[in-house]
Amino acid sequence: MSRRAVVIGAGLAGMLAAAALSAVADEVVVLDRDDLPEGPEHRKGLPQGRHAHLLMAGGLASMEDLVPGVSMRKHLLAAGAHEIPLGSGMVALTPEGWLRRWRHPGPSMLTCTRALLDWAVRGAVLDSTGVVIRKARVLELTGSRQRVTGVRVSTAAGEEDLAADFVVDASGRGSRIVTWLAALGVDDVREKTVDAGLVNATRLYRTPEGAGRFPLTMVQADPYQGRPGRSGMVLPIEGDRWMVSLAGTRGGGEPPSDPDAFLRYTLDLPDPIVGRLISGAEPLTDVHVSRSTSNHRRYLEKVRSWPDRLVVLGDALATFNPAYGQGMSVAALGARELDRELRRSALGEPGLARRVQRRVARPVESAWTMAVSQDVWYPGTRGGSPGVADRLVTAYTRRMIRTATGSYTAASAVWDVMSMTTGPTRLLRPSTVLATLSGPPLPAAVGAPLTDDERAVLRRLDRTGG
Ligand SMILES: Cc1cc2nc3c(=O)[nH]c(=O)nc-3n(C[C@H](O)[C@H](O)[C@H](O)COP(=O)(O)OP(=O)(O)OC[C@H]3O[C@@H](n4cnc5c(N)ncnc54)[C@H](O)[C@@H]3O)c2cc1C
Repeated sequence: MSRRAVVIGAGLAGMLAAAALSAVADEVVVLDRDDLPEGPEHRKGLPQGRHAHLLMAGGLASMEDLVPGVSMRKHLLAAGAHEIPLGSGMVALTPEGWLRRWRHPGPSMLTCTRALLDWAVRGAVLDSTGVVIRKARVLELTGSRQRVTGVRVSTAAGEEDLAADFVVDASGRGSRIVTWLAALGVDDVREKTVDAGLVNATRLYRTPEGAGRFPLTMVQADPYQGRPGRSGMVLPIEGDRWMVSLAGTRGGGEPPSDPDAFLRYTLDLPDPIVGRLISGAEPLTDVHVSRSTSNHRRYLEKVRSWPDRLVVLGDALATFNPAYGQGMSVAALGARELDRELRRSALGEPGLARRVQRRVARPVESAWTMAVSQDVWYPGTRGGSPGVADRLVTAYTRRMIRTATGSYTAASAVWDVMSMTTGPTRLLRPSTVLATLSGPPLPAAVGAPLTDDERAVLRRLDRTGG
């Protein structure tokens, strides 16, 4: 008998889940309510797509495993994405000082627009599998609290039921999964929100001539001063453009949409490097502002009786403050967990969906801890405040970041966790603990660690008189 899998949402989590399902189902149908563009263009259903989307190494590695016969890294680089080695290609001011740059590149991340990333992943999955996409809005799940049997959809032709042997909800942060589950009789979903009230403001610029090789530059927010967080970042994206993304928390840290105020905000950061870089650059867009940035978690893995044949992935399961750049990687790691379980068990096997949901909770937990343990320190954060455990973790993490400013051992532990190539226990390895306790062997860099050539580029671009 032919087995059909249905995926709700053609975003990153949905397309990667579809790739995993294509290895075991006869038919994989992805449903999306949005019109999906033919090229790398922004779309309505992904409002966050206008903002910086860093793809960490752990997320990319999962994608490499999931899309059959395609190297997503090569595919994205060929489409114009940039590869940024965290050790040598990034200039970052942390709350504990400037990170040194090292000869050894360390893990890399990819930077490009979210539109390019989604288009490239969607295209690669459609070209290498039999997955099909249909335009439809999913209204609810069908089945019972024991087993999901499909979805009810609304299309241009009206409403209909679509039967399925397996359903994945990857419909993003607006997912109605809790309501859908309740309609089936599953009503014990615990949820938690920790919201620092982060606002993102992003503007694209033409990369100034001669600045194409300037390192990715970021001034990070400092959660520990009892003041709202404020941060800024310049990252290279496809088409010889810079994406300049500012982010700040509730109560005075919020970046503005007015272009002049946007520049002033960058110059008022703890170091004005972002503003100096863009002060003479040619803007290509208006400033786009968005506010849906809370950490929100649905503890589906803890539900008493989970229905068979249903898995929830990506933002539909958990969202994180985007300042930490984890959401897409968590989505990809989740799809890889689905893939691993599908390779071990038959599609309709009782208990399979529950096992996947529990495995998917692991990367979610890592990302959640990283984001929330910092967000709780901002004044005005709703839904959480620092507890005893947070104080201990924070004391250790701050000391490690301070050490990372001048220690390769500590820096590479931080990059590995940030990149989601390993879980946070990496920070407790004996070599890392020892390095952290010993402190940085090299003094912290005074000012941004730029080469002479990069300094000359910065001086040439600077119209601030600074
Ligand atoms: C400002 C901002 C910046 C971010 N920066 C980063 C970053 O630097 N790095 C990073 O890794 N992550 C980042 N993220 C997080 C990232 O955007 C998400 O984690 C990621 O989009 C999750 O993918 P998804 O497929 O789960 O959901 P989405 O990408 O939101 O896709 C959901 C899809 O479901 C469709 N859909 C919704 N409801 C229905 C329905 N009822 N029926 C049919 N289709 C439906 C939508 O049209 C959409 O196509 C950022 C988020 C924000 C808000």
